[in-house]
Amino acid sequence: MTTLAPWASHPERSFGRLHQERTPDDAGLRGPRDAFQRDRDRIIHSISFRRLRHKTQVFMAPDGDHFRVRLTHSLEVAQIARTVARALGLNEDLTEALALAHDIGHPPFGHAGEDALEAALAGQGGFDHNGNTLRALMKIDSPYPRWDGLNLTWETLEGLAKHNGPITAPGWALAECDAAFPLDLARWPSLEAQVAAIADDIAYDNHDIDDGLRAGLLTLEQLLEVPVVARGWAQVQARFPGVAHHRLIGELIRSQIGAMVNDLIGETRSRLQGIGSIADVRAAGRCLVGFSPEMREDERLLKRFMYANLYHHPRQLQAARAAEGIVAGLFALYHADPTQMPGDWRERMPEDEPARSRHIADFIAGMTDRYAIARYRASVGPIDLPEGF
Ligand code: MG
Repeated sequence: MTTLAPWASHPERSFGRLHQERTPDDAGLRGPRDAFQRDRDRIIHSISFRRLRHKTQVFMAPDGDHFRVRLTHSLEVAQIARTVARALGLNEDLTEALALAHDIGHPPFGHAGEDALEAALAGQGGFDHNGNTLRALMKIDSPYPRWDGLNLTWETLEGLAKHNGPITAPGWALAECDAAFPLDLARWPSLEAQVAAIADDIAYDNHDIDDGLRAGLLTLEQLLEVPVVARGWAQVQARFPGVAHHRLIGELIRSQIGAMVNDLIGETRSRLQGIGSIADVRAAGRCLVGFSPEMREDERLLKRFMYANLYHHPRQLQAARAAEGIVAGLFALYHADPTQMPGDWRERMPEDEPARSRHIADFIAGMTDRYAIARYRASVGPIDLPEGF
């Protein structure tokens, strides 16, 4: 591994895990790995991670093999995040762990599924996918004999909890995790976490252009309304004169990822002047990993375009309504008749609220798109899904 910069997270200086692991019978049994390598590997081997392959990124249960899903999105985030982490002398393993796990708490059908669970839990504290990432990794996904959860290090849990920055008013799920293992929620997280967070944006800003074009919901002509895309397109055409447009889309997108990554590294290096340790990072009181003001504005305009034209496209909204119906229908079914849940979930069903509703939401939030559709069809009834499912 390359030498870590003074502002990096160090596995030997980790604040540790909630449950003490080293016992005479398991010390050193599973390969020469440090704490953050172990965290990344636990995430990759988890059921929650495998389920990401059938969870919506933008397109719900897509028929097309070439669309992103949460799994391939997370791999692209990890690729971008590792590039930036290495350039800045950060810990790549921690960065990769954070990138791979950042979307594990998403329910089926992406934000539509989240909205439906939020509504179903309205009287019971609501639902938030980021809080649910912590809940999934600390309470629900339990592959080990002695404790619930993956028993990840403080630094990995902290980075996931603060994926969107410091938190002053945590929802119930995150508050429970924080009560068990205090994560210093009100302060900025490590640079590794800040890198994973912005790599998430760089990944989807760009791959959603590709998927939107592939789905026929966006056109190149429309995209050229966005200044950063128009400039990139002019450069690509100048570099490859006479090449057919469809052969240049990939080049447009990879060049745009490269421009964002280079801007991010340059701007972040300048913000890191005077930062001599991770304690300085946490005490800075602001985000140290970010775009230059020019790129931030370019990226804001791109996102605004994508919301208006792709994420809120009439076909996407129609699919979202159908998805909300599936999640709401399953929640109502299990609430009225817990015998419809599979054995283990049925047996552990709490009697009282809010635990009862939250338990049902745990079960539904863990579902993949296709499992939710299958359960709905088997237990509730037929459902007409718009094209794209
Ligand atoms: Mg993401």
